[in-house]
Amino acid sequence: MNVEQLLSHPHASKPGKVSLVGAGPGDPELLTVKALKIIQNSDFILYDRLVSKEILELFPAKTPAMYVGKQKSNHSIPQDELNDLLVAKALQGLNICRLKGGDSFVFGRGGEEMLKLKSAGIEVEVVPGITAASGCTSYSGIPLTHRGISQGCTMVTAHGEKELNLNWEHLAKVDHTLVFYMGLSKSQMISNQLLHHGMSGSTPVALIENGCCPQQRVVRGQLQELPLLAEREKVQSPALIIVGEVVSLADELAWFTNKELGNNELENQEFVKTGLSQSSNRKIQKLSA
Ligand code: SAH
Repeated sequence: MNVEQLLSHPHASKPGKVSLVGAGPGDPELLTVKALKIIQNSDFILYDRLVSKEILELFPAKTPAMYVGKQKSNHSIPQDELNDLLVAKALQGLNICRLKGGDSFVFGRGGEEMLKLKSAGIEVEVVPGITAASGCTSYSGIPLTHRGISQGCTMVTAHGEKELNLNWEHLAKVDHTLVFYMGLSKSQMISNQLLHHGMSGSTPVALIENGCCPQQRVVRGQLQELPLLAEREKVQSPALIIVGEVVSLADELAWFTNKELGNNELENQEFVKTGLSQSSNRKIQKLSA
């Protein structure tokens, strides 16, 4: 069924409710109990690209589900149309589960969708999910804060809708953990800007690819080599970039392994890839000091 057909149904006497549900970063066991209940009991599910295959398998066979995800610069449904679709389906009396990767209110456009729904008089609830910053770092043994090392954490998007307007000077000086969402294709800019504004080139960084999923890969190194690491290790999206001294704690704290792949050894070295496939679990050479 296409969007026009979906919009053409008659209105019900009482609108349905929309639940903006965060699906977490991938591992289905990281869904909240509330999220799972809504997935199981809603009349219609709209989900995006970052909802993992394992979570899709939890959708009841009887419940219609529609993919409305976006790829960067390849919007499958424009946000305005998606907002209209949510309103139209709710007006048809359906209880809708709007399922997004991570948390809907963290770089998830949940606020925009909610504004539109509220202005159409539709009841909305928000079910928080584990955002990538929290899930991916936990599964990599990188605490976002650590007494004596980092007293805070800033979550930043590296991808602006029109232009990116970040206060790089502040970010470079803030002296706590930085987490960049949507930063993979901007790793050169992130590294350049932070170095230019005075951050040390030896600041530890990590790229976490497919965090909290069986194929999770963690590439670690220094800020000055961030773009090289991304390129040489062919890091794929979705990937999160962590910048800060807390990254080094993974030497001792990394714990997540994919035993199904027969690989549960972690390497404790200065530059490691705690990769979870046989082929990727080799030491990353130091590029330049
Ligand atoms: N609402 C989501 C974020 C959406 S923005 C949340 O709260 O997590 C999309 C970005 O999130 C990706 O480009 C990537 O930087 C990050 N991301 C989401 N899931 C991820 C995962 N499983 N592993 C690594 N990065 C992830």
